Amino acid sequence: MQLGLPFGEAGARAPVVDDALAPPTAGAIAPIYFVRHRRARRYLLRVEYDGRVRVTIPRGGSRREADAFAQRHVEWVLRQRAVLSRSRFSADDRRRLRAQAQAELPKRLRELADTHGLSVTRVSIRNQRTRWGSCGRDGHVCLNWRLVAMPQWVRDYVIIHELMHLKRLDHSAAYWRLVAAACPRYRDARQWLRAHGPELR
Ligand SMILES: [Zn+2]
Repeated sequence: MQLGLPFGEAGARAPVVDDALAPPTAGAIAPIYFVRHRRARRYLLRVEYDGRVRVTIPRGGSRREADAFAQRHVEWVLRQRAVLSRSRFSADDRRRLRAQAQAELPKRLRELADTHGLSVTRVSIRNQRTRWGSCGRDGHVCLNWRLVAMPQWVRDYVIIHELMHLKRLDHSAAYWRLVAAACPRYRDARQWLRAHGPELR
């Protein structure tokens, strides 16, 4: 489910946090930390929800190259942080809401999946800047932690939107009929998201 704001977030799953690698990268880009990821094929840079920079080091990569890579992207990092600083959520808010999302959203997703006789293989809570949620062919549903800052009925619509993708991975008329049957207020919810979604970034 697209939010309509292009934003670079290059992610890698199940990383090994490498806190032992104390970052010498001083100044503009701090705070920064490095993780090694065996499956990563290139260096990746991400600005976390709290403004920290995370650099992923691929297999065979080095700390020194990772540092140089980060330095080459200082401008990008500062732009991403500027976007974060315009967010209505402080770093504390984000930390609290993410914890709340982790506690509430998977539970609610499974409840709604049960109601509609669907099975979800995996649920992840993500810091997506461009989507409220996503659903993979393999039944893996990702939900944006910002859902917990929405009214319950809008949150439920987003969850149902992703759940119905377990039946159809498109946005065809047939797909929207499934959504309408499961969530009669879906048009109101979409309107709410268009009107208020941008405030949640
Ligand atoms: Zn969709």
